Amino acid sequence: MNTIQDFHNLCTKNNITLSNQQITQFQKYYELLIEWNEKMNLTAITDFHEVCLKHFYDSIALVHYLKFKESNLVLDIGTGAGFPGIPLKILFPNTRFVLADSLNKRLTFLDEVIQDLELEKIELVHGRAEDLGHDSDFREQFDYCVSRAVANLSTLSELCLPFVKVGGQFISYKSEHVKDEINQADHALAVLNGKIDRQEDYTLPDSDFFRSILFIRKENSCPNQYPRKAGKPNKNPL
Ligand code: SAM
Repeated sequence: MNTIQDFHNLCTKNNITLSNQQITQFQKYYELLIEWNEKMNLTAITDFHEVCLKHFYDSIALVHYLKFKESNLVLDIGTGAGFPGIPLKILFPNTRFVLADSLNKRLTFLDEVIQDLELEKIELVHGRAEDLGHDSDFREQFDYCVSRAVANLSTLSELCLPFVKVGGQFISYKSEHVKDEINQADHALAVLNGKIDRQEDYTLPDSDFFRSILFIRKENSCPNQYPRKAGKPNKNPL
């Protein structure tokens, strides 16, 4: 892929329909990402083709399995440079999104992205999941919590499931180690009342990059002591 039109064609070929406005938003997002990446560490991937495939397409591949509704509230934990939150927001302009990260600098970048792309119904939150997860404004408030490349599944379940309403889903973007991660997360999921409802494995188009999306249903509230104090879920996974 050399141009944004190539990305448009790739999406069309893979049954993801994008409007001209959405395509323009992806183009602007790429330009901002490259511009800001010179001043701060946002991504190691900067090549146009790679960004389109491994950041943009990777983030929106979820639409093959789930369409967010206008009434949904979606949280992206550890959004970093905005993945998967911003691409999903571009695809679902009427759904409310909250993007959270513990690194404020990245949120400054995302603020600019939101202004330039004229995105609405989207909020940025600075904080650690371990703290936000005990705040009543966030705990059990979301229909979906998505997360990509933040931690292993056990740790991530502790960070993400507390935000999800009972009956809602934590959606974890994973790659080649998914099998091992699932085995290691068995106990965490049992303790936190999460259940893997569905697993969708695929490869990114015209490549052999394996990806897996896990849909983890929250069957009951998480015990109040979770998430544990900042750093604990990572150092000592359940
Ligand atoms: N999700 C993005 C992606 O897929 O490109 C960013 C991944 S980056 C490797 C991990 C991000 O998670 C960083 O921006 C980091 O600041 C954030 N993060 C790590 N631990 C966190 C925590 N406990 N609470 C909130 N954000 C966290």
